[in-house]
Amino acid sequence: MCIFCKIAAGEIPANIVYKNEHVTAFKDLNPQAPTHILVIPNQHLESVNDIVDDASALVAGECLRAAREIAQQAGLSSYRIVTNIGADAGQSVFHLHLHLLAGRKMSWPPG
Ligand code: 5GP
Ligand code: ZN
Repeated sequence: MCIFCKIAAGEIPANIVYKNEHVTAFKDLNPQAPTHILVIPNQHLESVNDIVDDASALVAGECLRAAREIAQQAGLSSYRIVTNIGADAGQSVFHLHLHLLAGRKMSWPPG
């Protein structure tokens, strides 16, 4: 099992902020903004590249919905959602995750 599968299964600890049947969200260990939450599907998908059918598209959509709910409950008026696909894009954990970042001014384009 990968590290994020273990977090979703409760086998290793994380600071979980949201959980439902499809999705788990928890604070990033190495935050890049005052708010930095990772939203993951409970089932293992490696990245956006694994969104290939209705079932995977459903859980990907549930990740976006959870991110929106977390942002709304935290009262965030601006936030950024990022997902890295592949090592050159900055992906270091190969279980699909959305970074929910907020609480500081963001620059564009990202590095
Ligand atoms: P990536 O680089 O794949 O886009 O993002 C992986 C993120 O996972 C990084 O921001 C990193 O800080 C975070 N991370 C890696 N391992 C753990 C962990 O065991 N627990 C938590 N909470 N975050 C982790
Ligand atoms: Zn996994």
